[in-house]
Amino acid sequence: MTKTILLLPGDGIGPEVLAEASRVLDALRKNHGLDVSTQADSLGGAAIDRYGVPLADETLAKAKESTLVIMGSVGGPKWTTVYKHRPEQGLLNLRKGLGLFANFRPAKCFPALADASSLKREFIEGLDLMIVRELTGGVYFGEPRGISTLPDGQREGLNTQRYTTSEIHRIAHAAFTAARQRARRVCSVEKSNVMESGLLWREEVTALHAAQYPDVELSHMYSDNCAMQLVKFPKQFDVIVTDNLFGDLLSDAAAMLTGSLGMLPSAAIGKLDRPGLYEPIHGSAPDIAGKGIANPCATILSVAMALGMQLGRPDLAERVEQAVSAALNDGYRTRDLIAGPNAKIVGTREMGEAIVERLKG
Ligand code: NAD
Repeated sequence: MTKTILLLPGDGIGPEVLAEASRVLDALRKNHGLDVSTQADSLGGAAIDRYGVPLADETLAKAKESTLVIMGSVGGPKWTTVYKHRPEQGLLNLRKGLGLFANFRPAKCFPALADASSLKREFIEGLDLMIVRELTGGVYFGEPRGISTLPDGQREGLNTQRYTTSEIHRIAHAAFTAARQRARRVCSVEKSNVMESGLLWREEVTALHAAQYPDVELSHMYSDNCAMQLVKFPKQFDVIVTDNLFGDLLSDAAAMLTGSLGMLPSAAIGKLDRPGLYEPIHGSAPDIAGKGIANPCATILSVAMALGMQLGRPDLAERVEQAVSAALNDGYRTRDLIAGPNAKIVGTREMGEAIVERLKG
């Protein structure tokens, strides 16, 4: 049956990079038998302009009916002060509306970019790790929360870190399942030495592993040590599973090991038979929007994640990754990538074309 994709270009460079991802989908349809249909709608600032809100009900309904959603990015100075809604709220509402609790953020080093990292080549070459971050629970959502005034006149800011067994189990299942497609190693990260929520996390992950995933190697690490190990020797990790707060910090640190924001895809998944959301991790880059120089690779690699995770075509996922790698090996570089001696500095469209060209045959 034909799978359906909702494309949400968003704002700033979003439409520019998503146009290249669309061309990749077209090429896969034409040359590799990918059976998908696409439709587009507005999100973020573009949706405020069109519908008066950053995520219209009809757009959320379309997202829920689709197999998956691929987006560009949202936000920009036009909507920061004048308007009642912020574009970024549209993305948060979309994640909530689709029940996306697991965020997959790979950090992979393409051979041609091994010198673009802040780490030495030998520590980064061949890096391929996946951070699985819990996305809808923990301290960002826990109640009670708020700012209040205490009896002695001081003000107090309060947030609550809270996790239930079912929230821990579903994210751990996601991590163990991902590890089975990779090197079968999961490192579970928390601070069980000082936090009860971390202690419960460790106990539940350990129990689930023993009961259902004995074929996957499980280790545990405190989050502060994990941050240190990520910059010391990142290649020791295969899959890291962690909570919302630690995942936010560790995934940004891991992502930047590979060089540029313009290379990093992500996926947010809920129940496996429900639509996931695939997007580059970068924002709408208002400073370069409209100039045709944004790097489309992160969005194209988000298509690769969708192919592997929800479109049932891991073969094509690999092909897309290989095409990106081949374009880089042949010297194609957008301006955000450190250029080598044989570099051809190209714009968004030319980078997309170079990748599509390498998908043929
Ligand atoms: P940003 O990621 O948009 O830009 C940071 C820097 O990286 C800029 O110098 C930009 O030019 C560069 N950059 C980003 N993506 C690039 C690409 N593909 N190619 C080349 N260079 C690239 O972050 P920001 O400036 O902090 O945020 C700008 C807007 O984006 C804000 O409104 C923010 O809220 C929003 N934002 C949206 C998302 C999302 O849609 N998921 C994520 C982060 C930020």
